[in-house]
Amino acid sequence: MTAAPVAAGAAEAVAAAERLVPRLAERAAAHDRDAAFPVADFDDLRASGLLGLLVPERLGGWGAGFRAYVDVAVKLASGSPATALLYNMHASVTGALATVPEDLARQLGAPESFFAMRDRVLRAAAGGAAYGVAITEREAGSRLSAVQTTYAREGAGYRLRGHKSICSGAGHLDAYLLAARAEDAPASEDGRVSYFLVPGGRGLSVEDTWDPLGMRATASNGFTLDAAVPADALVGGVEGLAVLLAYGLPQWLVASYAAVYVGVAEAAVAEAARYLGDRVAHATGGSPSATRGALTKLGAVRARLGRADAQVAAARLVLQEAAARADAAPGEPETNRWVYRSKLLAGDTAQDVAASLAEACGLGALRRGGVLERLLRDARSGALMPPPSDVCADVLGTAALGLDPVAGTDVRPW
Ligand SMILES: Cc1cc2nc3c(=O)[nH]c(=O)nc-3n(C[C@H](O)[C@H](O)[C@H](O)COP(=O)(O)OP(=O)(O)OC[C@H]3O[C@@H](n4cnc5c(N)ncnc54)[C@H](O)[C@@H]3O)c2cc1C
Repeated sequence: MTAAPVAAGAAEAVAAAERLVPRLAERAAAHDRDAAFPVADFDDLRASGLLGLLVPERLGGWGAGFRAYVDVAVKLASGSPATALLYNMHASVTGALATVPEDLARQLGAPESFFAMRDRVLRAAAGGAAYGVAITEREAGSRLSAVQTTYAREGAGYRLRGHKSICSGAGHLDAYLLAARAEDAPASEDGRVSYFLVPGGRGLSVEDTWDPLGMRATASNGFTLDAAVPADALVGGVEGLAVLLAYGLPQWLVASYAAVYVGVAEAAVAEAARYLGDRVAHATGGSPSATRGALTKLGAVRARLGRADAQVAAARLVLQEAAARADAAPGEPETNRWVYRSKLLAGDTAQDVAASLAEACGLGALRRGGVLERLLRDARSGALMPPPSDVCADVLGTAALGLDPVAGTDVRPW
C-alpha cells in the first residue's frame, strides 16, 4: 500500500487548518510561558468546524478518516504543537467512536444505548464540544491494565473514584474519556478495565500541578474524581474494552500522537532554515564583515538541515502509510505494525531533528522565548508519550521475532 493523497473534503479541512496556523503561532509563546490552556485557539478550532473533522456527515461533521486527521494535525502543529496535541486527544475520542466498526461493537455486546450515546457525543463535537483523554496515573503511567481509578454500580449508573495525574486540557473540556477498573476486580485483572465518558465539571477537582519542560500549553493538570455518571457513560456499553481495544485497534491511542510530532519536526526544519537565512554573522573565514545568511555557507550547517529534511520526510511517509492502512484495514496485524512504526519514528525524529538543528543554529535555538527553543522543548515529549519509543521498539522487535506482541513478552505494553 502506498500513501494515498487526501480526498477532496479532507483537502478543505487541511486548508481550514492552514488558515488557523498564523493565529495559533502568534499566541503560542504566551501560552507556553504561562503553561496556560489555549482558550482562543480552541475558539478558533470550534469556529472552523475542525472539532467535527472525524464526525460522520450524517451527524454534522466532515466525515473524514485517519489519513485526513494526520494532515490536519501536522498543519496545526506547525502553528502550535501544544494546541495540536490537545486536538489529538479530541480526535482520539471522536475518531475512535466514529470508526470502531458497528458489527465489531455488536459482536462485543454493545447495546443500542451505546449507539445513541455515540451519536449524541459525536453530534456535540460537530457543534463545538471538545474532549480529552484521562488514562495516566502516578503509579500506572499510561499502562491501562494497571490503572487504579475505580468504578462501581450506583443506582442506574456508576460511581467513579480515583486520581488522574496528567490530563491535557483538564478542567477546560466538555468530557473526558477515562479509564477505570471495576472496584471488585482484582488488581491484576485487566479484563475489567473500562472506558467511561465523564462530563467535565461536577465531581472533578483539578489540581494546578503542571509546570513541565515542553508542551506546556496543553495544561495537562491532574485531577481527583468522585463522580456519579449515567449507565450510558460506559463506552461500548460493556465492561473490559479498554485493554482489548488498545491491542486490537491501537491507531487512535498510538499513531494520533505521531502526527503531532511529525508536525513539530517539520516546524523545526522550517524555523531553522528561516533563522539561518536571517542570521547576520562572521562565519565565512576571511570575510571582512558580518553578512546575513553567513551560516548557510557552512557545509556542516547545511548538512544538518539536509539530514533533518530527509528524516522528517521518512517519518511523514511512514505516518501516511500507517494512516492509510488504519483507514483501509483497521486492526490487521500489519496495520498495527505500521501504527507502532509511525509513533516510534515520529517521537525519535522530532527530538533528534530538533537537537541537531539546535546545534546548527547555536544560541539562537536556546534563547528563551524563541520559536526554536520552544520547539526543542516540545519535541522532547514525543518519545515519552504513550507508548514510549522504547515500548514501540519492543513491540516491533517482538513481532520481528515472530512472537505475539500481546503475550510474547514479560512486560506488556498496555
Ligand atoms: C505533554 C504531555 C501531555 C500528556 N497528556 C496526557 C493526557 O491527556 N492523558 C493522559 O492520560 N496522559 C497524558 N500524558 C501522560 C503520558 O501518557 C505519560 O507521560 C505516560 O503515560 C508515561 O508515564 P510516565 O511519563 O510517568 O512514565 P513511566 O510510566 O514512569 O515510564 C518511564 C519510562 O519507562 C519505560 N517504560 C514504561 N513502561 C514500559 C513498558 N511497559 N515496557 C517497556 N518500557 C516501559 C519507558 O521508557 C518510559 O518512558 C501526557 C504527557 C505529556 C508529556
